[in-house]
Amino acid sequence: MNEHSNPRGSRTAEEIIARDKRHVWHPYTQHGIEVEPQVVARAEGASLFDANGREILDMISSWWTCTHGHAHPKINAAIARQANTMEHVMFAGFTHAPAVDLATTLAGLLPGDLNRVFYTDDGSTSVEVAIKIAYKSWVNRGETRRTLIAFDGGYHGDTLGAMSVGRSSQMFGAFKDLMCDVRVVPYPATFEGDDAVEEREAGALSALEALLKDHRQSIAAMIIEPMMQGAAGIRFCRPSFLKRVVALAREAKVLVIFDEVATGFGRTGKLFAMEHADVTPDLVCLSKGLTGGYMPLAATVVRDRLFDLFLSHDFDRALPHGHSFTANPLACSVALAAIGLYEEERTMARIAEINAHHRTMLGVLAARPDVTRQRVLGPVLAFEVGDDGAYQSEASRTLRVWYLAKGLNIRPIGSTVYLMPPYCITDEELARAYAGMIEGLDRLASGSL
Ligand code: PLP
Repeated sequence: MNEHSNPRGSRTAEEIIARDKRHVWHPYTQHGIEVEPQVVARAEGASLFDANGREILDMISSWWTCTHGHAHPKINAAIARQANTMEHVMFAGFTHAPAVDLATTLAGLLPGDLNRVFYTDDGSTSVEVAIKIAYKSWVNRGETRRTLIAFDGGYHGDTLGAMSVGRSSQMFGAFKDLMCDVRVVPYPATFEGDDAVEEREAGALSALEALLKDHRQSIAAMIIEPMMQGAAGIRFCRPSFLKRVVALAREAKVLVIFDEVATGFGRTGKLFAMEHADVTPDLVCLSKGLTGGYMPLAATVVRDRLFDLFLSHDFDRALPHGHSFTANPLACSVALAAIGLYEEERTMARIAEINAHHRTMLGVLAARPDVTRQRVLGPVLAFEVGDDGAYQSEASRTLRVWYLAKGLNIRPIGSTVYLMPPYCITDEELARAYAGMIEGLDRLASGSL
């Protein structure tokens, strides 16, 4: 036996951290400056628990994935049932009930003729596939259109195509030479009491109009996170803006991709964010809440007419894309169980209650001189701390560490502090989260963090 064998023999939190430090590379982490990761021993409902049983309220739903709560008994039962039947089978030339039932369910939930489901493993790959489908649909029509339109600050994942359309997020400078051609349009982020939003919307729309006019022949698709840009700092737009953007793209015959990876499954107060504006894209990307946050699974759902462009006796017209775990039966069964809970547990009604509590908090936040741009959409509450841009990442890290010590998983994005809880959160837990959040702000303001 050497030091690398029997890794599960050591179970104390200290030993896990020591092994983590030696062998693990974490996402979005600068290991040179980060504090030690938090060991999570178990999770239940809206809470995570460390090795000593200390509770941490998961106020950002574990990177926006967890919808109905951790370790939900009905979802657990669905996994167990499926695991005892079939864990996985390749998905080219084979099919199975969980994948077919889920595709049928998604087609039923989504508007219009968004009927054809291509499964992938995560949000990034669902976007990658949407871009490839859009591009190849033009190739199959006999046209070459290489350019994509994205919105300023938009984030769509970390694979190459997804990074390209997220290039303005300022996270991917190191990779810019590898990216495909993307034109970026301003995004009119808005908040409570924003009296300049119309002006900003007009600017964004005329920039989009000009782009569509000048480059219409080379633009394959436009991608947008409908209603809420997530990683850009929880930035909302108005439904009327979304509606107008889609109308302009349609007039120019440019394909519309909605990235609902973060916004889908209730995260903006509707099951899908597109419902706010009553618009239907040509392609929609779903992940995160698709499985209730349980397992990696994603779907790129496209309109029938787009799928038809790939039909032929010639393989060259097909979509040459697939993953080892495409349509994993465990993940599809979990997704079906998670979707079923919206009705069984009246989840949308609970989301409306969370929204009402957040709205009450808006008043508290409005009275604080250190808080600006407070905003609420569905079960999401967000605001900025300090002057725009002046709030260094060092302060946001300090705030995050303090919140964690206080038993709250709240991770500010730059100057943006936000709450995006699992929908199962109780009123008492929510009150606890608000109190802790405000105490953190007080301490930051008084320099005692
Ligand atoms: N699209 C949006 C809007 C996202 O918020 C994210 C992740 O946060 C992604 C795509 C990428 O998803 P994943 O991290 O599952 O690859």
